[in-house]
Formats: sequence, structure tokens, C-alpha cells
Amino acid sequence: MTRATPSRFSPNYLKQLPEDLAEYVRRHGLDKEFGRLDSWSSSMEKTYTEIEEWQIDNLIISYWHIECMYKHAAGFAVSRFLEGLKNGKILGTKCEGCGRVLIPPRIFCEWCFRDVDTWVEHPGTGVISTYSLSYIGTDPRVRFEKPIIVAVIWFDGTVKKANSSRTVLHSAGILHKVQGVDPEKVHVGMRVKPVWRRPEERVGSILDIEYFAPLEGDG
Ligand SMILES: [Zn+2]
Repeated sequence: MTRATPSRFSPNYLKQLPEDLAEYVRRHGLDKEFGRLDSWSSSMEKTYTEIEEWQIDNLIISYWHIECMYKHAAGFAVSRFLEGLKNGKILGTKCEGCGRVLIPPRIFCEWCFRDVDTWVEHPGTGVISTYSLSYIGTDPRVRFEKPIIVAVIWFDGTVKKANSSRTVLHSAGILHKVQGVDPEKVHVGMRVKPVWRRPEERVGSILDIEYFAPLEGDG
């Protein structure tokens, strides 16, 4: 269930904003304008061209408190995968038809149209297949001095080409952080290994792997 309730720009909310943004809001009287919009079409008529510092033609500020309550069942295969992570193991499934290793695991192969019930453990070593240097994390208001490296890791020995096509390529892999290497030195094809959190810190999440680090000799 999702419920969205429009609110006014309360003094409390202003306190939560970074000081410079709160100052903009106060200086331009946006805190007073806020909350008067009653429809999308009326919001489109609002312009704040006088805010030269922002160099934008139209500014619409809206504050919504969104309350989301949901349950998500991970399912049989992913539940076992998450349980494995808690125990410091990367578990996958292997299709006996095409030989693909699936990590995170699935119990059906869409290449072969068959059930997959062979479980394998993988050491988690692999290569960076693509990456980004990001100057923001989960809070977009905070810009990092030094970028973090976010990469797609392809696990060793899992690259497979479909028999029927030269273009369909599969590899088991995940998106994760890479640390322990200078952002200027990270590269596609760099070999990496998982660095685990301590057992007492693991909760059955992909973040039980704290990050991936270069294998020795590839830093
Ligand atoms: Zn298959």
C-alpha cells in the first residue's frame, strides 16, 4: 500500500535542509508559496524566473511524505542465496542443459526451458566488466571528494554463449562497490575478489560482501 500526503513547508522541514538551500527558500519566499498548488496543471503555471542563481526558467518545489509499507518474498532460490551470504558463501545454480552458472541463483533456465536444481558454490573471484566512478552515494546532497567505484563483476568461469546465437552472451555477475584501488587505475578486465564483513555483522544481504578488492598483482 502506498499513501502520499502533501504537506506544507513546515519550519521543521526547513531545518532538515542544508543551510544554503534553506536560505534560498526563505529569501525567495518559497516557503510561503509552498503547499498552495492543488493540481499538476496549476503547478505548471508557476514560474520563479527571478531566482537567477539557479539559472532555470521554472522551479517547482513540492514536498511529499511517502509512506510505503510492503512485504517482499525473496523466493526459494534467492532466499538460499541470501542465507549463503550470511555464512560467507556465494551460492549459485547450474543448468545441466546449457552449463550456465546462475548467480544470483534461479531455478529455471530460460535458454533450455528446464528446471535447474544443481547448486554450486563460487569463490566470488571475477573480473570487472564495466564500472562507474560516482561522486555521490545514497544521499545526493553530499558530494564526495574522491569518487567511489561501482562496478559490474562477472564471476570467473561463468561466461557462456548461447549455442543458437553468436550474439547472446551470458555471465553470472552482480553490481557492487570496488575498493582498494585508485580510481584512476581501475579498469575493465581487472581481477577482483570479495571482501566479507565479519560473521557477526552479516545479516543475509548482498552487503554482507563489504566490497570487491583487486586480486594481488592487479592493483
Ligand atoms: Zn540451460
